[in-house]
Amino acid sequence: MTQEEYKIYIDNVIRRVEFARVRFDEKHIVKIVAISKYSTAEEIEKLYRIGQRAFGENKVQDLRAKSLELEELPLEWHFVGNLQKNKINNLLDINPALFHALDSLELAHELQKKLEARDMKLEALLQINSAKEESKHGVMPEVALEVYNKIKKECPNIHLRGVMSIGAHTDDKAVIKKSFETTYSIYKQLEGATICSMGMSGDFDLAIECGSNMVRLGSIMFNK
Ligand SMILES: *Cc1c(COP(=O)(O)O)cnc(C)c1O
Repeated sequence: MTQEEYKIYIDNVIRRVEFARVRFDEKHIVKIVAISKYSTAEEIEKLYRIGQRAFGENKVQDLRAKSLELEELPLEWHFVGNLQKNKINNLLDINPALFHALDSLELAHELQKKLEARDMKLEALLQINSAKEESKHGVMPEVALEVYNKIKKECPNIHLRGVMSIGAHTDDKAVIKKSFETTYSIYKQLEGATICSMGMSGDFDLAIECGSNMVRLGSIMFNK
C-alpha cells in the first residue's frame, strides 16, 4: 500500500468510528489508541504521518524499545498490557501517558510505593473482567466500584481516570454487547471518571455504541 492508499484506508476506519459514535450520541467523542504490538517503528511512523499520535503496547520491553526508537516524534504512549510487579520500575522509567490495565488493589499498592519513592504520578484505568473469563485479568464487576474507590483513597499517586475492558471472547454479539454494557454501567457510577476504554479491531463499533470513548485498535490500524 502506498502512503496515499494507506491514508484512504485509515479514513475508512475513522468513518466507522464516526458512524458508531453518532449512534451513541451526537456529541460523543472517541479517541483511537493505535496498538502497535505487531508493528515496527517504521510502520508506526507511517501512521504518525497520517495524523495518529496515540500509540499503545502490551509489553513493557516493547514499549521501551519503540518509544526510544521514535523519541524524536511527539507521540503519546499508552501501556495496555498486564503489568508484573517486577516490571513496575521499568514501566515508570518510561512514564506512559496512560496505564490501561490496573487490575488489582494489590498491584495498586505496589505501584503507589514506587510512585511515592519517585515523587511521580501515574494516570491509570481500572481493568474490569466484565465477561468473567478465567483467561482474563481485571477485577470482577461486583467489586469494581469498591476497588476503584479504595485505590483512589489509598493510592494518591495513582490518578484513576476510568475503566478498561476487553470484550467477551465469543462470536455471540449479544454476549459481547452485554460485557460492554456491564463495563459502561460501572463507568457511569464512578465520580469524576472520564475514560471508558473498550473495543478492539473486531468489536469497536459495538463498544462505541455501548458508550466507549477510547478504542484500542491494533490489527485494523496497521492493516494486518
Ligand atoms: C492487542 C491488544 C489490543 C488490540 O488488538 P486488535 O485486535 O489487534 O485490535 C487491544 N487491547 C489490548 C489490551 C491488547 O493487548
